Amino acid sequence: MTLHERLKSVDVPVSTFENVMKQFDQAASKLNIARELLEFIKYPRRSTIVKLPVQMDDGSFRMFTGYRVQHSIVRGPAKGGIRFHPDVTLDEVQALASWMTWKCAVVNIPFGGGKGGVACDPSKMSRGELERLTRRYTADLIDLFGPERDIPAPDVNTNEQTMAWIMDTFSMHERTTVTSVVTGKPLVLGGSAGRREATGVGVVITVREALKHLGLEASRCTAAVQGFGNVGSVAALYLHRLGVKVTHISDVYGGLYNPGGIDVEELVKYAAKHKNIVGFAGANAFDGDQILFADVDILVPAALENQITVENASRVKAKIVAEGANGPVTPDADPILVEKGVFVIPDILCNAGGVTVSYFEWVQDRMGYFWSEEDVLVRLEKIMTYAFQDVLKVALENKVHLRLAAFMVAIQRVVDVVMLRGIYA
Ligand code: GLU
Repeated sequence: MTLHERLKSVDVPVSTFENVMKQFDQAASKLNIARELLEFIKYPRRSTIVKLPVQMDDGSFRMFTGYRVQHSIVRGPAKGGIRFHPDVTLDEVQALASWMTWKCAVVNIPFGGGKGGVACDPSKMSRGELERLTRRYTADLIDLFGPERDIPAPDVNTNEQTMAWIMDTFSMHERTTVTSVVTGKPLVLGGSAGRREATGVGVVITVREALKHLGLEASRCTAAVQGFGNVGSVAALYLHRLGVKVTHISDVYGGLYNPGGIDVEELVKYAAKHKNIVGFAGANAFDGDQILFADVDILVPAALENQITVENASRVKAKIVAEGANGPVTPDADPILVEKGVFVIPDILCNAGGVTVSYFEWVQDRMGYFWSEEDVLVRLEKIMTYAFQDVLKVALENKVHLRLAAFMVAIQRVVDVVMLRGIYA
């Protein structure tokens, strides 16, 4: 038995990076690409781990572990968010960084893929502690970052304020203001109109295209949304505005259910005030863990990875699964959903609206000229619908499901660039 097989036979946690590699291998096997070339583009180019001492409010200091992975710089600078979460590991960040490479290639924007993370629990840290952690993380990794090198953005538990601190720290070291080193910044610091909503809006654009393709009408559909953060709340709101009846919503604290449809506009206001959705008067409470199995047409997992697995995939009732989160469906669960006829809109397509508007933000920062929200949305709409059509075409031509098709499109785009650039030796 190899070490790898032995590790798999004992109860080890899922490797999310292994999941991405499985997705990659399945798509690569459909393409005619040399093995060495596939190996070159499959693994992260550079993974960095830093130990970060941070002064806490009580005068003590604590050590944190931070990561930045640059998966690919073939098509442009590394691009991807930074996550603050107690469960962050190198394995997870490597997985998230590779999904960024494929995501940027699917929507055809000139970036590679990267991701960062710090293992910490932001809910137990003060604003000052979070600021010092963010600045120390940025300072320690400063040689990696830059508008032409590697451009962070928000992800789980990081936001506009985090990006402002990163931008300021980087700029203080550069001795000049460099807005284009991060995206997802506040508007007044060179952020883009529409960036905060972009991921959720993009999710709904892909759902709308899927409904069209499947011949379903939005106003006759119901939806369940797992997660009410930056992605889930906006996706729920725009589904509601599209005429879909959003019957189930959950966040980390609990679930809401209203068979007549939840008034998402009101829930957004409630959640902004109470910091969670529990207690909202316009719906009944239900066990949020059950949301994946809700009897709805559209399911939007918009929380964390590895939610729909080989153990529970057979219980999913939705016709469409729109992956607002990165990696919510494991590769072993995919065939079960396909077998059931579920139309899965894969993460690297479905949630690519965020990084697409990040690209617009980077472009605007570099020009020093800013677009209206309307301009941004028209451009986002165009990129997302083209990407959906590109992927659907490959899926239909090759008789494969959308995830495989999305990876095929992305891998081919990266390979085309490698072939032109050549291998430097
Ligand atoms: N964190 C987001 C994602 O997973 C956005 C990344 C970005 O804008 O660079 O796609």
